[in-house]
Amino acid sequence: MTILELQSIDKKYSQADYFAVNQVSFKVKQGEILALVGESGSGKTTLLRLIAGLEHPNSGCILLSGEKIAERNKSVPSEKRKVGMVFQDYALFPHLSIIENVKFGLIHTKGDKDKIAKETLDLVGLKENYSKYPHQLSGGQQQRVALARAIAPRPFILLMDEPFSNLDALLKDQVREEIRQIIKKTGVTAIFVTHDTRDALSTADRIAILHKGRLQQIDLPRNLYEKPINPYVANFFGKRNEILATATVEGFYTSFGFIEDENAKNYQDKVRLFFRPEHASLTVRAGQALSGKLFKVSYYGDHQILKLTDEEGKKISIKINPTQSVQNDARVHFSLHSYGIESAY
Ligand code: ADP
Ligand code: MG
Repeated sequence: MTILELQSIDKKYSQADYFAVNQVSFKVKQGEILALVGESGSGKTTLLRLIAGLEHPNSGCILLSGEKIAERNKSVPSEKRKVGMVFQDYALFPHLSIIENVKFGLIHTKGDKDKIAKETLDLVGLKENYSKYPHQLSGGQQQRVALARAIAPRPFILLMDEPFSNLDALLKDQVREEIRQIIKKTGVTAIFVTHDTRDALSTADRIAILHKGRLQQIDLPRNLYEKPINPYVANFFGKRNEILATATVEGFYTSFGFIEDENAKNYQDKVRLFFRPEHASLTVRAGQALSGKLFKVSYYGDHQILKLTDEEGKKISIKINPTQSVQNDARVHFSLHSYGIESAY
C-alpha cells in the first residue's frame, strides 16, 4: 500500500535560476525505509522540507495517506500533516527533561501524554532516563530521544535529515542498526537523507538517488549497486572498471581476453563492459580466459587491491582476499562474476 506519493514536484527558491527539485515523482510503501542520497546541493533537504510542509512546491502535488497535502496554491499546514521530523542536530530543548522533550511532540495528540511518552521512550531503549536532561546523554541516546519525540504522535511518515552524520565511525554501525530496528518495530514509514552510500545500502529497503534536483533511480540497494541505470548512479555507488570489447555470437573479445556470453549476440560490434573491483576474482571460471599484468598491489588489512594492465597499458583494479599471495609483474588470471554491458555507439 502506498502511503506517500510525489507527483512531478518542482521547487525553485525565489532568487534562484534553477530548480532545487526538478520533476520528482515517486511512491513510498507503508512501513518502508527509503534512503534519499545524492551529493551536497542535489536537493535532498529541500525534498524532505517539501514533504514536511516547511517549503511549498512550484508545481506538482504530494499525497500522504491518500490526502493531497501540497500542490501549487494549496497546502496543509506542517503541524496538521502527521509527519515526524528528526533534524541533523536533533534540536532537543536543553532546559527540558527527556520526557518533557517527548511530550512536546505530543502537543496536538489526544490521550494520556505521560503514558504515551513513557511507552515511546521504553521502545527506543531509554526506560531509566525519563527525568534526565539532554546533556547527560550520549550522542546516540540524544538521537533516540529525538526519534521518540518524532514517532510518539504516530505520524504517517518519519523524516530524518542526515541522522548518522554527527556520529563517529565506530558508533555509527551500531546506531544505524538500532534505529533501523526501532523503525521496523513501530512499523512507521521512514525517509532518511544521507550522503553516505554505506548508510543507504545497509539500512534502507529502497534508495532514491538525486542529482541536480532530478531523481535518477529509485530501487533496491542491490539493484542500484549492481544494475545502475546510468553512469552517474554507477559511479556514485563506488568505483567501477570500464573495458572495451567486441561482441560476437560466442561472447566478448576484450584486450584482457575472452568472455563467453550468449548475451553478446544481442550487441553489435563495439561495446563497453563495466565491472566493480569486487566482482572480479582470481578463481578460474569456465568460459572465461582473462588475464593482465600485475603492476601494483595495495594491502588494506581486510582486502587487497590489484592493479592490472593489458598490452596497451589500459588499467583495471580488482579487489581480492587479503590472504591470497600475488607477485608484482606476474601475469594474473582472473574472472568476472558480473558485469554491465553498454553499446559503445
Ligand atoms: P542537499 O540537502 O542535497 O545538500 P539542498 O536541498 O539543501 O541540497 O539544496 C538544493 C539546492 O537548493 C542547492 O543549490 C542549494 O544551494 C539551494 N537552496 C537550499 N536551500 C535554499 C534556500 N533556503 N534558499 C535558496 N536556495 C536554497
Ligand atoms: Mg541537506
